[in-house]
Amino acid sequence: MSEALNDARRTLKAEATPAASVAIARRIPGKAKAQTEALRDYEAFNAKRRERIPVALWPFWAPGPDTLYRWRVRLTCGCVHEVLTHGNDAFPAEGRWPDPVHRSYLPPGQMWCRHDESANEQYQGVVEWGARGERTFPADPMEPLYDLDVETWMKIRHDEPRTSALWTVTLACGHATEMFSDLDWQPLDGPKRVSAEQQREMIAEFEQLWATDPGSDSDREREHMRRQLAEGWPRPATEQLCYTCPQARAIVVYQGVDWLVPRKKVEKADTGSRPSRKQIEQRLAKAQAEQKRLEEQLAELVQQDRSAE
Ligand SMILES: [Zn+2]
Ligand SMILES: [Zn+2]
Repeated sequence: MSEALNDARRTLKAEATPAASVAIARRIPGKAKAQTEALRDYEAFNAKRRERIPVALWPFWAPGPDTLYRWRVRLTCGCVHEVLTHGNDAFPAEGRWPDPVHRSYLPPGQMWCRHDESANEQYQGVVEWGARGERTFPADPMEPLYDLDVETWMKIRHDEPRTSALWTVTLACGHATEMFSDLDWQPLDGPKRVSAEQQREMIAEFEQLWATDPGSDSDREREHMRRQLAEGWPRPATEQLCYTCPQARAIVVYQGVDWLVPRKKVEKADTGSRPSRKQIEQRLAKAQAEQKRLEEQLAELVQQDRSAE
């Protein structure tokens, strides 16, 4: 394996959990896409998106290209991506970018960039229980699963279909994941724990298993189970593997490219002469009045859409 590839691997592992880094503005080697191509790509993407978004919300969720500003960003993994923000003063490292797996957003300044050779996922504490759904499972097969022996399998096997609650939770790293609980469990109840006696028995059994069969669980799993045993084996568990950490990379460098629809040369020439304070105040008042008018119009449209539903 080449030295460069080895280095890249080491870097990927070291930055498994991106720290909240301070991104810097700097030229990034390489070239931005051609403006016509960037615009065409956005128009195609936006046309698809607009099919499922009400017209009144287009300015917020599917804006036309003329308010968007193009940037190039370099991530901790070394990859360079082109992104768009609403205006040239909305910096990409301050924005929240999508988590495509959980349909949520990553913490500010992180972007999803998948690499096969990423670091292993680690356990993170659960900090918040969010949206709740339900999922039904069929009865388990008679044949043992998970490499279990028949006797153990028969003890834990579900012979009827069953339904569990499925929650979207936020982990300590700021990422989202999903966790199951019993159907009637609510976050306010807190996790159920085993009795002190059961806890002692479980600890003794697991420690004996690990002593006699050191390879039965990986170090990571064993440490996780030790922590959970020390907490009284909480159900639902109080920590979960984060599969997002290894793929979420912080933006470390950003470079402004241009407006997605370049401003006219005339406007650029205009900025040469500095407007007076009075002129700026007048323009600001006009812009504020226009914003108020648009907000009222939008509120009315949203109201109309709602009553039409
Ligand atoms: Zn990457
Ligand atoms: Zn994470």
